[in-house]
Amino acid sequence: MVSEGIVRRYAADAGGFVPVGEHRLDPAFGPAELAGCLREAAARAPDAPLALELAVPFCWHRCAHCTCDIVVARDRTRADAYLDRLGRELALAADHLGPRRAVGSVFVGGGTPTFLDDAQQDRLWRLWTAHFEPTRDATLTIAANPAVTSLPQIRHLRAVGYTHLVLGVHDLDDAVQAAIGRHQTYAQTRACLDLARGVGFTGVTLDLVFGLPKQTPRSWATTLERVAALQPDRVVCRPFDYDPVARPNHQALLRPALPDRGAAVDLQRQAWQALGAAGYRAVGLDVFVAPSDPLARAADRARDVFGYRPGAAVERVGVGVGARTRLDEAVAANPVALAPWARALDADHLPTAGGRRLSAADRRRRDLLERLACDLEVRLTPAELDAAGDALVDLVADGLCSVGPDRLALEPAGRFFVGAVAALIDRITTATQAPSARGGAS
Ligand code: SF4
Repeated sequence: MVSEGIVRRYAADAGGFVPVGEHRLDPAFGPAELAGCLREAAARAPDAPLALELAVPFCWHRCAHCTCDIVVARDRTRADAYLDRLGRELALAADHLGPRRAVGSVFVGGGTPTFLDDAQQDRLWRLWTAHFEPTRDATLTIAANPAVTSLPQIRHLRAVGYTHLVLGVHDLDDAVQAAIGRHQTYAQTRACLDLARGVGFTGVTLDLVFGLPKQTPRSWATTLERVAALQPDRVVCRPFDYDPVARPNHQALLRPALPDRGAAVDLQRQAWQALGAAGYRAVGLDVFVAPSDPLARAADRARDVFGYRPGAAVERVGVGVGARTRLDEAVAANPVALAPWARALDADHLPTAGGRRLSAADRRRRDLLERLACDLEVRLTPAELDAAGDALVDLVADGLCSVGPDRLALEPAGRFFVGAVAALIDRITTATQAPSARGGAS
């Protein structure tokens, strides 16, 4: 049990995600800077398989709890012009990365990728495979919302070539679904999952969200039980990030209907217990995998666009509205709105809304945060442990982490307030960076 005092003290740090060095983007970092970084990355490791993120931002309507950058559309033909420009962006990226670069993983997310009809899905596949070559064992993932995805569409996605399916569930309770304006029956979810298995998808992930309005321990227990009964390969269980200022659609959600921080922490802990009892193994901060899943056996794991992947971190190229690029030496973000993204491509340059060339300290920060997210512990140098100071003493005293001669590890309670530990790592890497790396030495 986490005490009320701890919940109050670390309320702002509750949740499951860790920033990975992409949170301080410089708006002056533009297409020319990204192009240079892509060329340097290609020169450093021309044969290393990349990850590719493809964003399809369209949805039929906006759910009240949505935290994605989406475009509401009622007509599938709107996607045709989007695919024209997506093809242009892929070609521009390939100009800098080299022809037919190998990709070991692809993630098609959104929005709702199954907004596209079969012909548009065929076209999307042709567009990215014209410039990138999937490796023989590539993981090719596409997300689908069971409420608006037909069974023939699922069949078609497998026929096109995708190997993994992410099904958005969020919550199965009627009252919760009514509160967030997202209606989807258990039967729809089960039919999509069963068919995905039947047609040969090698992995199916279900996506849950805790901290939603009207969620109660009882309703959440039922959702978890029904999800476990479906026996997906993976379950992602992520926190609802309520932000009515940045997300106007959240204004429809009245605060009294939302679980408070303490209740949200209890829902998160409930998920760990229920999915653990159902035989799932917790991976990192927010993913649960069946024992047969390759992630359960992987010696190394890296944070991915959605959850984790086996093996070391790889460079990722993001294409489409809101997509992000993660290189060893730089990060960059595309515009989150359709219009500026389209304008950039119509002017024939990469649609870059900001980015950052990483300093040694940035890379150290990102490495530590990624290790924390993957392994729930990090190795620190003596200087870094010294720099942690009293803040670390407080976290240890509050039971969020433990510390050894060369490492810091999350305690079970720390998983619920990982933002506090991430903030400490941020301060440590800032304090221990060389003056020249701060760019301010004179
Ligand atoms: S379907 Fe998903 S991406 Fe689209 S509005 Fe709903 S939550 Fe957002």
